[in-house]
Amino acid sequence: MKIGFYPGSFDPITNGHLDIVDRGSKLFDKLYVAISVNPNKATMFTADERVALVKDVLKDIPNVEVIKSDMLTVEHCKILGASHILRGLRAVTDYDYEFQLTNFNRKICDQIDTVFLMTEGQYSFLSSSSVRELAYFKGDVGPFVPKVVKIAIQKKIMEMK
Ligand code: ADP
Repeated sequence: MKIGFYPGSFDPITNGHLDIVDRGSKLFDKLYVAISVNPNKATMFTADERVALVKDVLKDIPNVEVIKSDMLTVEHCKILGASHILRGLRAVTDYDYEFQLTNFNRKICDQIDTVFLMTEGQYSFLSSSSVRELAYFKGDVGPFVPKVVKIAIQKKIMEMK
């Protein structure tokens, strides 16, 4: 059984992430989507909120399981029996960071490799940070995130005021 592991902050999940999960789920028998918990990183949504949102968005993809991750990615892969880390690539600006991360992970554990899916052209400009920025300034995030995420963002912004 081929198991993949797609880690990220997903703060919040966007249509770009969704596209990577959708296509990635066809490459593996099982794909874990791992929401990273990093207490040093300020996030708009708590880890539990991100997990709940991602679960809701991905509920119709049967071989995908959403989990929280608060350990080294390769360690978590080993525990789950995942052979590959899945990541998405947008523009060349992602390349440096992903190249460094991939090599770092391979240095720690050369049994686990990273595979990349190129974003669909329409999502190449899309990031969670631009969605958060747009929401803060009352822009319409509707075209960029699933409906449940849009509703959650609106609620969050109201609470922040
Ligand atoms: P991280 O903090 O780990 O970068 P993100 O949630 O920002 O977490 O991203 C997780 C993964 O999803 C990364 O590999 C990132 O390149 C990819 N990704 C994010 N947005 C998109 C998008 N619009 N299209 C394709 N891949 C994306």
